[in-house]
Order: sequence, then structure tokens, then C-alpha cells
Amino acid sequence: MREKIGTVLVIDDNPANAHQLFALLGDDYDILVATRGADGIELAAAQSPDLILLDVVMPDLNGYEVCTRIKADARTADIPIIFVTARDDEDDEAHGLSLGAIDYLAKPLRPAIVRARIKNHIDLKRSRDLLQRLTTLDPLTGIDNRRRFDACLATEWGRAAREAHVLSLVMIDVDHFKRFNDRYGHAVGDLCLTAIAAALQGALLRPADVVARFGGEEFACVLPGTDLAGAAQLAERMRAAVEALSISHDGVAIAERVTISLGVAAAMPQSDAQARRLLEAADGALYEAKLAGRNCICIQQAAPPRAAPAAPPGAGGPQASATA
Ligand code: GH3
Ligand code: MG
Ligand code: MG
Repeated sequence: MREKIGTVLVIDDNPANAHQLFALLGDDYDILVATRGADGIELAAAQSPDLILLDVVMPDLNGYEVCTRIKADARTADIPIIFVTARDDEDDEAHGLSLGAIDYLAKPLRPAIVRARIKNHIDLKRSRDLLQRLTTLDPLTGIDNRRRFDACLATEWGRAAREAHVLSLVMIDVDHFKRFNDRYGHAVGDLCLTAIAAALQGALLRPADVVARFGGEEFACVLPGTDLAGAAQLAERMRAAVEALSISHDGVAIAERVTISLGVAAAMPQSDAQARRLLEAADGALYEAKLAGRNCICIQQAAPPRAAPAAPPGAGGPQASATA
């Protein structure tokens, strides 16, 4: 059996039509079939197919309504939709395209044309997805970039405000990194940042957590639904993971290995203005961690703002001065 190159969702109330498309495309694509518009909308959201072939005339929801709903849902808006219909009226076609469909296939279907068009549209979608992904990736480290961090914080802040959930941030800065560059050179510095990024990413446990390169030798995490204590635990795991990389740093008296300092802050989101304040609070805690000797985490305290050492999981006492 040939390897499938994508998944196509067929939404058509007539099983014979769906069967014909299956015969045409089944060798190359995994085919999902819905014979009702509402089922098709659900399948699209649940399975994220690469492309949707949509019948216009259906008894429950017609194809135009299905198209409109799929395009209105952020989860499915980017999936290309091709109308497949016996109607070849120019107005119908223009209407379908105006609703966001990418193409129109008129019945009777011509197999070679159908296959070629579908492959073209799927290739285009893959290129678009890749470009989209590249705009949110940090080219050096391969983790999310500042743009993605900002977007994620805005989205999660809004969600947390609506659902009355707590949200935490962790700000991370590599210790004495200027001296590291001076001692080993910028290229080795770049490799070091890449290894640190991978270690930070590896410390995340929940799919909703995001760690991004914030800029230079700084990183930042958004932790939706995580309280201060949970965020402090993650921060400690990150600190330990970077220390465990055991990257030599003999340009510094207090540490022989590369280490990071971390600031943690949490909030119950309410307004846009506070998202920035939370960032400032995490940054303030990071500053305290630097003052406390580096290679440690500090957590934001309730007003008046004051940073204090956080307890590592299972370790009991303060660890603001965890040694290298
Ligand atoms: P501190 O412990 O107080 O954070 O000291 P630091 O030396 O890390 O802080 P400082 O802000 O003085 O220096 C940050 C250094 O990070 C300076 C710069 O050379 C280095 N840096 C920033 N971005 C990059 C990068 O992309 N690659 C490399 N190799 N170095 C970088
Ligand atoms: Mg810095
Ligand atoms: Mg630094």
C-alpha cells in the first residue's frame, strides 16, 4: 500500500458521490466522510484534515452555510475548501469563492484534473503553514520567538480573564553570558543558547505551556492555568536542567558551569494593562534572583512587591543561593 500524503474530508449527503471521491483519491489520501453538514463541521475541527471537498446542495445545512461556519472557526479557518457540485452557474461559483472556498470542481468529475488540483492545493497549504510557523520560530534555537510569546500571552490572558483562571510567567536570563562569549567566542555562545533552549523546552510538561526566546540570552514562559507554586516548581526544574547540562564556564569565579536565573510571577487576569504588569513583576523577580547570587529562582510576592527565594520541590528550605 502506498503511503498517504494527506487527509481529505468529503462532506456530501450522497454516499455514491463520497464513494466516487474515495475511489479517485483513496490511494493517495486518508479519506474522512460526513454525509451531514453538521457532522462535517465537527469532523473538520476534530481531525484537522488537509483539505475539504464540500457538496453545495445538502438537506440539513447547505454547503455555503457549512463553508461559512468552518471559515468562522479559528481551528478550521485555514483548511482549504473546494466545492464539488453539479451546479456550474457562474453566480453560484462566485458565491462559493466569496465565502472563502479556494476552488470549485464541477461534476461530472474528471479524475486527472481532480487529483492534480487537490495535490496543488494541499502543497500550497503546506507551504503557507510552514511560512506561518517560520514567523513564530526563533532561527537560532528553534523554539518559539518573541512574536509568538507576545501573541500567546495576549491570547492566554484573555482566556484566563474569561474563565477566571490563574496565569503564570517565568522570565529567564543566562548568568554572566557576556563573559561566556568573551571567553569562548560568539559561535560557542550560540551553541550554548541552543542547548539551554532545548533544556528549557524539555522541562515543560503541559501542552499549553510555552517557552520562547525573549531576546538575546533571555527566555520567557507563559503557563496558563498554573499558580505561583506550580510555576516555581517548573522554574526550579528548568534551573536544574540547565545546570545539569554542565557546560563549562570558567570565566566566572562563582560558577564553573553555565547557569540561569529565573523570576516567577502569577496573576488572576482582569484587564489588558495587567498583562504588562505581570511581565514587569516576573522581570522584577528575575532582577532579585540576580541580586541573590544567580543560579536561583525568585518569586513575585504580593504587594508590597518583594522578591524572596522559592522552595524547590521536595527540598524544603530556601534555594536562592543554590550552588553551581
Ligand atoms: P547577568 O548574569 O547579569 O545576566 O550578566 P550577563 O553577562 O549575562 O548580562 P549582559 O546583559 O551584560 O550580557 C548579555 C550578553 O548576552 C551580551 C551578549 O553578548 C550576549 N548575547 C545576547 N544575544 C546573544 C546571541 O544571540 N548569541 C550570543 N552568542 N550571545 C548573545
Ligand atoms: Mg540579559
Ligand atoms: Mg545574562
